[in-house]
Amino acid sequence: MRDSVFVGLVGCALHTKIGPVRRGWCAMHTLPLLLPATLLMIPAGSASGGRGVVDTSASPHVTFRSADMDAVRWTDGFWAERFELCRKVTIPALIQVMQKPDNSANFRNFRIAAGLAEGKFFGNDWSDGDCYKLVEATAGVYRVTRDPQLDRQMDEWIEVIGKAQAADGYISTQIQLTGRPRWQDLRYHELYNMGHLLTAACVHHRATGKDTFLRIARKVGDYLGTVFLPRPKELAHFGFNPANIMGAVELYRTTGERRYLRLAQTFVDMRGSAPGGSDQNQSKVPLRKEQEAVGHAVTAAYLWCGAADVYAETGEQALLDALMRLWVDVTERKMYVTGGTAALHTGESDRRLLKRGPRDSIHEAFGAPYQLPNRTAYNETCANIAHAMWNWRMLALTGDAKYAEIMERVLYNSMLSGLGVEGKDFFYTNPLRRVRGVPLLSNDSPARWPDTTPASPVHCFCCPPNVVRTLVELSGWAYGVSEHAVWVHLFGSSTFDGAGIRLTQKTQYPWDGRVTITVDKTPEAPWTLRLRVPTWARGAKLQVNSRDVGVEVRPQSYVSLERHWSPGDTLQLDLPMDVVPVETHPLVEETRNHVAVMRGPVVYCLESTDLPESMALQDVRLPRRPVWQVRHAPDLLHGVTVLETEGAVVPKSESSSALYRRASDGPAERIKLRLIPYYAWSNRGPSDMTVWIPLE
Ligand SMILES: [Zn+2]
Repeated sequence: MRDSVFVGLVGCALHTKIGPVRRGWCAMHTLPLLLPATLLMIPAGSASGGRGVVDTSASPHVTFRSADMDAVRWTDGFWAERFELCRKVTIPALIQVMQKPDNSANFRNFRIAAGLAEGKFFGNDWSDGDCYKLVEATAGVYRVTRDPQLDRQMDEWIEVIGKAQAADGYISTQIQLTGRPRWQDLRYHELYNMGHLLTAACVHHRATGKDTFLRIARKVGDYLGTVFLPRPKELAHFGFNPANIMGAVELYRTTGERRYLRLAQTFVDMRGSAPGGSDQNQSKVPLRKEQEAVGHAVTAAYLWCGAADVYAETGEQALLDALMRLWVDVTERKMYVTGGTAALHTGESDRRLLKRGPRDSIHEAFGAPYQLPNRTAYNETCANIAHAMWNWRMLALTGDAKYAEIMERVLYNSMLSGLGVEGKDFFYTNPLRRVRGVPLLSNDSPARWPDTTPASPVHCFCCPPNVVRTLVELSGWAYGVSEHAVWVHLFGSSTFDGAGIRLTQKTQYPWDGRVTITVDKTPEAPWTLRLRVPTWARGAKLQVNSRDVGVEVRPQSYVSLERHWSPGDTLQLDLPMDVVPVETHPLVEETRNHVAVMRGPVVYCLESTDLPESMALQDVRLPRRPVWQVRHAPDLLHGVTVLETEGAVVPKSESSSALYRRASDGPAERIKLRLIPYYAWSNRGPSDMTVWIPLE
């Protein structure tokens, strides 16, 4: 569906050389001379003025444009509470712990590289990137609160980062402080780190209006141009974890300088361009020819995000075709019900369609089709976030609600499970089952690990700043703007203010399916409100000013209401929130005769904390036709809606240590079961947990 494509302008010719300007919105020139007719129809005070977290305000090949960071505010409810949690608890804690020299991501490395402190490099090769993510998250909070202390904190960091940058623009403390030569090993993450710098600098510029970080980013971009343009054959495989593609596109969008877009295109083209690539980081097969999702789930999704950003600017059909193909492979064969995509801690690539060369060792990776184990699922928080980022981009390119659906699935489940409900502890892996006493794999941790512990149990600090930047920037994903239309993608009490339109959204979503939107301010000309209707919302109803409006409200679509709006008009969308048992495709062996339970976008789980101590979680069965009680528990886990029903507990077998034993045929005990949202598990001490529950 591409019903309203914007044709934007590529930069103000008078300003591309002298500093950062937003393409198409150059304040120093007369807009009518610069902008195509379609954009002129947008009323003054557009909500998409080049300050989106991802800025598609002038991207020619998107269906809607991103709303500016300050056009949308959460007011109360689910996402507003998460924003506040990040602002008050998580970000201050991360700022503190990431100053510690023995945390695996820390700012001290920059101070040493800047000559401001003595010492050795400490951390992972990707630690710089994790620091930039925290700068970005801080900017995301600052744009809402305008807290001068946060501004000063960012200034301080940026000054040190600037001093750590080499004269030619290169910056990577893991190389500068260890004496290793540049561009020797893709695992050193130079491009990943610099890519996060580019993105963070653009967000900082949009949030603060300052150019301090952006100047550093331009030097990085120019330096990368000297290394990668034209594409050097010997560096064909250097795009390991390609945050650099998104970063380069965003730098192009911020500055209007096309060489940064060429850089991003080159990074996409490098993949699979020479023999010797690996499935682990999607460099064996060129992206445009790729048929299957293989390898590391973060590097894959970052590549696809970057390619989607490149497509938004170039409209190259082969890229979009490849992304759509891969999306089908991921969502129909390789994705968990929580939206997680990394089935494997380690394994081998197992291609169905392309038989070329030996299988590659892979880790933190997609499984084979329908290979979705629960207890050993990897599902790194960063991979889940990257999956949501990719789906947000696919939504922007196409306007197809199916992408919003996956984005939302990740946000409420496998993204949020990475952060404790108190905002103080984290998960790196997000399995769908936990059984205490069974050995954990690689980066699993027995419980959430706290922000205050330097060198976390998994010795990797990539996920905490990633989950925080996603949460504080999430309002930027909630609405979109296209010609004479405002899109509502995510539900949450909020205000939207832009394009001459002001809206107030009120809802208790995801606990309640009623969404009320009031038009506070509107232009006189008619415009369209496009509201997303999720797939599960069968029988959804829509009223305007308490009257049915006679439009079809179809699940997995956007319902469009075009009219002359008046201030005070109120629209009410009712999404039925039934408790829905979910089963998998029969080829997923691990979940045969199991169901997962969803209500709205929320996936539920059973946690041993909610069972009598004597009872083992694996003995619990769910009746085939359970009767559910839905109850909101405001004091539990910071307020969750729980699902209660009667379940069964099968009698223990005689020999519980035998691998195979006679199945018990004794009578099952009836028991009251309580299911909690999956994202909220492991907040009440060590526990067993399962998303998939066997049927009685
Ligand atoms: Zn991570």
